[in-house]
Amino acid sequence: MTGNSKKIRFFRKHIPAFECLVGCHDCCGPVTTSPEEMARLPVKSIAEHDAALAELNCPYLGKNGCEVYAERPLICRLFGTTPMLACPQGRRPEVMTDSDLEQQIELYMMSTRQVLV
Ligand code: SF4
Ligand code: SF4
Repeated sequence: MTGNSKKIRFFRKHIPAFECLVGCHDCCGPVTTSPEEMARLPVKSIAEHDAALAELNCPYLGKNGCEVYAERPLICRLFGTTPMLACPQGRRPEVMTDSDLEQQIELYMMSTRQVLV
């Protein structure tokens, strides 16, 4: 397992989970992620990517929500768990993401080439 895989696993484990509003996907849109996380997502065609981007959407947002929930990028997991990325529906975990962890995740994102999902 690479250093980045270990970091991703660690971050995923420590970002707190919470219940979203049923059927809500207001925070989904064009997001970026590291190549390592991108490689875990099923390949979409250029046309699918273009169609999603034209609507300022994410290509993995299906009619029943996120199609890659178990492998969704770190930014999607972090959303709603920090004051900077507050959920517009007012949902949040009981305990927000630890600020040191948030900083570590930001550093990880800044140190990897981010690609459009
Ligand atoms: S975090 Fe908030 S805005 Fe995003 S899907 Fe969940 S309830 Fe909706
Ligand atoms: S990967 Fe899933 S959670 Fe993240 S923006 Fe796309 S549809 Fe939404």
